[in-house]
Formats: sequence, C-alpha cells, structure tokens
Amino acid sequence: MTGMRDPSRMRQRAGKLQRERYRLENENLRIRDMIKGTVIKHYKKCGRKVCICREGKLHGPYWYLSFKEADKSNLKYINIKDLPRIVRLAGNYKRFQSNITKINRINRQITELMGDIREILLSRRGKK
Ligand SMILES: [Zn+2]
Repeated sequence: MTGMRDPSRMRQRAGKLQRERYRLENENLRIRDMIKGTVIKHYKKCGRKVCICREGKLHGPYWYLSFKEADKSNLKYINIKDLPRIVRLAGNYKRFQSNITKINRINRQITELMGDIREILLSRRGKK
C-alpha cells in the first residue's frame, strides 16, 4: 500500500487543505473595497510639430484602468493622485478572484480525498 492510499495520510492532507482554505476565506472576507480592472501604463506622442516625442522620447507615463463591461473593453484615465489607491483596489479584486479559484480547487481536492477515504474504508469492511 502506498502512502497515498493511507487514510490517515489523506486526513492529514485534507486538514492541511482546510487550513489553507480557511486562510484564503479570511483574506477575502477582510477585503473592504475593490475595483475591477488592471492598471496599465501608457506613453504617447503629442500633436506638436516640434517636440522631443518626435525623436522617440514619448510623453508619460499616463495611467489607465483597463476593464471589461458587458463584454466591452474600457479604459479609464487615472489621475496620478489616485494611482496608489487604484493600484491597491485593483490588487484587492485580483487577489479576491484568485482566492476564489484556489478555494474551489481545494473544495474539489477535499471532496476527492473524502471519496478515496470512503472507498478504502468500505473495501476494508468487505474483507472482514
Ligand atoms: Zn510631444
């Protein structure tokens, strides 16, 4: 019998996953504010005929929040004074979403472990 077929190892593994899930759930439940989107940086040329941007030294950076709304891509200009806050809020959204993905994966893993444990316990009983 390999280690992976050992119910006590499986229980340990499930316990570890539960603790990780609890940590991820708490992290999400502590998030108070978020904004959907990704902060992007942009440099650009201006319309003047004589300017350093004509020689490749572009103006910027300009910051935008890129986000999808009703399947349409949008860019919203970010005022430099709002940048740190927007970066933080967009980070919160990203972490929140990523944690949900991780929690779903952990749920599947725990369910799978329980199925395996059930199978082993039932097969042991059949041998008696
Ligand atoms: Zn220019």
